[in-house]
Amino acid sequence: MFSSIAGRSVVVTGGSRGIGRGIAKQFAKAGCNVMIVARDIAHAQRVAAELDAGHTGKIIAFGAEVNRREPCDRMADAAVAAFGGIDILCANAGIFPTAKLAEMTEADLHDVVSVNLYGTVFSVQACLPHLKESKAGRVIITSSITGPYSGFPGWSHYGASKAGQLGFMRTAAMELAPEGITVNAVLPGNIATEGLDGMGEDYQRQMAAAIPQGKLGSVVDIANAALYFATDEAAYVTGQTLVIDGGQLLPESFEAMRSV
Ligand code: NAP
Repeated sequence: MFSSIAGRSVVVTGGSRGIGRGIAKQFAKAGCNVMIVARDIAHAQRVAAELDAGHTGKIIAFGAEVNRREPCDRMADAAVAAFGGIDILCANAGIFPTAKLAEMTEADLHDVVSVNLYGTVFSVQACLPHLKESKAGRVIITSSITGPYSGFPGWSHYGASKAGQLGFMRTAAMELAPEGITVNAVLPGNIATEGLDGMGEDYQRQMAAAIPQGKLGSVVDIANAALYFATDEAAYVTGQTLVIDGGQLLPESFEAMRSV
């Protein structure tokens, strides 16, 4: 059993949908104050109101795009104004449009890298002064298996951004270790989210067939890993990655998968 983290203050970027929403919900259930950050503030407010009911912490929404530094600074200021501080940042906001390398435009590359990688760096920088004030400062980054370990045609820019997050994480973990802040990353495989719904049923069926457990993961699977990194028991874990993929990275060939 882990010690309680009730009362800690958490900022979840991209907390209004999919994995981020799952993370926000698990921290709310753990008794934390949670700020849900997204561009669509009306939707984020609806999600915050849903989560607020029945939980002891304050659940609020804030509208910001993480790919620019100034909105991230306003996000951190608003969290401190509402909660009195920030203990945990879940840098989760991300986008995954596809573009094959031969057709990829400068704008395609810029958009993906600016949300997924710059957004991670800017949100950490903005929260940093407040994480330093916390007794248990935590940064939990949502990366992916795509990029750090695997590839998928159409996602070279996405894979670069997700691998880039881990390069950032390792040096950030070193720089922030003396401050008592840990920096870790969850690496989801294929998780059933609204974002993946847009990829179509065929895609989801094919993905499930390539996973030894035979099914996509749930947002709760990822949220539980994020919760672990936030615990006091994980205080000595920093600069690390946790793959949550139902064994998707394990098969070495089609034959291996057929033998499962
Ligand atoms: P999703 O359902 O599309 O949700 C994305 C969230 O990010 C939404 O809350 C969205 O709200 C927010 N967002 C997007 N752009 C933003 C911006 N510029 N500034 C602030 N917020 C922004 O995505 P998901 O599937 O949950 O993915 C979440 C994270 O997990 C991403 O980093 C993704 O790379 C990673 N991941 C997902 C999977 C998967 O299978 N789903 C697998 C591996 C990794 P607004 O649109 O209102 O801004």
